[in-house]
Amino acid sequence: MEMNASEDRFGLFAVADATSYGLTYVVPSGLNLKFGQAALVPVGKRKCVGIFLEFCEKPSFLCKQVEGILPYSIPFSPQAIALAKWVAQYYLASLGRTIRLFAPGFFWDFKKNEARLKRFQDYFSLNEAGDWIATHALPVKLKGEFAVEPSEGVVELSEEQSQCLELIFTSEQAVTLLHGITGAGKTEVYLQAAERVLKQGQRVLVLVPEIALTPQMSARFRKVFCEKLAILHSGLTPVEYEREWFRVHRNQAEVVLGVRSAVFAPVQNLGLIIVDEEHDSSYKCDEFPCYQARDVAVKRAILEKCRCILGSATPSMESFSNASTAKYAYATLKKRQVGSIPTVEVVDAKSYLPAARQKAKDGQNKAMKTSLLKFDGCLLARPVIEALEKTRQRQEQAMVILNRRGYANYCLCAQCGNALMCPNCSVTTTLHKRGEMELCHYCGFTRKTLTTCPQCSCTTLVQMGAGTQNVEDELALELPQLKVARLDRDMFTSQSRVTGILESFRSGETDCLVGTQLLSKGHDFPKVSLVVVLHVEDGLFLPDFRAGERTFQLLTQAAGRAGRGEGREGRVLLQSLAPGHSVVTLAIQGEIEKFLRNELDLRALGWHPPFSRQILFEFHGKSPEEAMSFGNGVREELVEHWKNIGISPHEVRISGPYPATLEKLKGVYRYHMCVASEKRLLPMQLIPSSLLDNPRLFQKMRVDVDPYSFL
Ligand code: ADP
Ligand code: ZN
Repeated sequence: MEMNASEDRFGLFAVADATSYGLTYVVPSGLNLKFGQAALVPVGKRKCVGIFLEFCEKPSFLCKQVEGILPYSIPFSPQAIALAKWVAQYYLASLGRTIRLFAPGFFWDFKKNEARLKRFQDYFSLNEAGDWIATHALPVKLKGEFAVEPSEGVVELSEEQSQCLELIFTSEQAVTLLHGITGAGKTEVYLQAAERVLKQGQRVLVLVPEIALTPQMSARFRKVFCEKLAILHSGLTPVEYEREWFRVHRNQAEVVLGVRSAVFAPVQNLGLIIVDEEHDSSYKCDEFPCYQARDVAVKRAILEKCRCILGSATPSMESFSNASTAKYAYATLKKRQVGSIPTVEVVDAKSYLPAARQKAKDGQNKAMKTSLLKFDGCLLARPVIEALEKTRQRQEQAMVILNRRGYANYCLCAQCGNALMCPNCSVTTTLHKRGEMELCHYCGFTRKTLTTCPQCSCTTLVQMGAGTQNVEDELALELPQLKVARLDRDMFTSQSRVTGILESFRSGETDCLVGTQLLSKGHDFPKVSLVVVLHVEDGLFLPDFRAGERTFQLLTQAAGRAGRGEGREGRVLLQSLAPGHSVVTLAIQGEIEKFLRNELDLRALGWHPPFSRQILFEFHGKSPEEAMSFGNGVREELVEHWKNIGISPHEVRISGPYPATLEKLKGVYRYHMCVASEKRLLPMQLIPSSLLDNPRLFQKMRVDVDPYSFL
């Protein structure tokens, strides 16, 4: 086996999960290896799948021989390999870890690979010209899809929409930010842009953020593209998913619609990539490699020289900033196609708080300190309950959206609406140790939790935190006639369950849908006339520089759910303890551009992205001390490295290690360290490969480039 005969050639392979860039193997002279070809290679005692990258010099060490080419597999395209290399470099991952993202699990498992490919042989075969063709009609409706009739004819675009469409295809920039209020007809623009690309003989990739949204989006695409559409998301059965992927791999689908990971789908001859709701944070992957699918989509569009649309009613700060500096073209849709812009009212929850305090005093919350109250049993203010009842009586529908993202644990003053903040940074402190300690996640500042508000000196500090379940319970108690359904992330394990809940809401079986902010995304329910948003400040005071941006997006998106039907007035109620906050005010007034410009100024001041680039390190240890000293070691190594390569302290800032918000997870202690740098310094320049290639270090460390979550 191990032979380095002189006539043999040597090849470099990206082997799934290998921690180094590539592995070298002997390529026997008879083997006809093409670039990107999947081959069978030995790793230790196992057989693995590796992708051939290039021939290389004879290495100084002995190496094993390639065992063969994988049957039936089509080589990865040069563009796919180029994209994989970029993702690996930018997100500080090995090529092996990255290449895995480009095909489903079975592909990398030699035994399964063969078995599956045999199964798919039933569906496809090679014709005489050497093209793959489908030999059977494939089932068109996948699990969790709405049933649809094919559409008759095209919708005539409005003047505004046509202008956007033209800009998308004629602008100097490959990427267009399509900024259109909810209901302005962005989806219609996507559909017609896709049709145009198909007519040119090219393919289209469409990304949507959430599985819960795909039934609706896929229904609109299915109506137009029927069996030309392939759908890729984790709510499909494994067989469905693999078959859909295989269809794409075999060039049998012309439009591919999927969630985050579909950005790596093997679509050939790509003419257009659409990223819907581009601002959505679920495009960010939180497992290593922590890629951002929107950013990967933009890179892919540039590599494949195709067009890209980033669509949103509330663009991300990153994309807005790119549009402002003309890196992206900027197209806007300002008019709603059907329905009207809803009215927004604020319900000041402070006036309803005494009831909560009374309950606490009555002993329902004995465990709680008198200065720390909870909203339990008093989540919905009177006007909200009354509005919900009126909506039901009018046989219209309502949504109640609660912003419970992660573990928002902070203190809010019920008198003045001020949250307890870090004195050094413009973020709220996070409560630790059952609320006894405050901690800042940016600078590490810590103190015993204040019991008086530093702004108004009163002692009514409220510890925030309540879930969708509590809201559902309270509604059942207050409005027993109201038919309530709940939708949150816990249900995402079952696509048919999600579809079922959405479908019974659409058909009017339920009156009211309660859920987290994912309810605010993209849904189009014409009978919804009331949207209630509870405690927006919950998101506003998260220890995260994107807190303002996210809250603004949530409010604007939520408001966009109301009044989408013909001739129906939409009404939005914001129940809030901080009704005067500028983010809330601007959202109510619909002042998106003003908000974006203000927020950009704030980001510039704090040197936050998009004005700097962040890399978050997470260190794991069996004890806090272990995690901390591990982190300190890495910090020293980095500082030393920067000194050696001549990077000055003005160009890079490092903070931490400090305990993470979720300090202990599954028995592991977690410490964070954040590196912020000038944008022109790429991650691979800042972080030495000695640190990343060391598997021993890497097992205890997580690196996140452009982090979205600081928990
Ligand atoms: P968005 O994606 O921006 O929220 P949609 O594309 O879903 O907006 O459009 C909102 C509604 O308006 C949909 O019901 C859609 O069918 C309708 N619509 C969009 N464009 C037009 C048009 N040019 N003429 C008539 N109706 C339209
Ligand atoms: Zn701080």
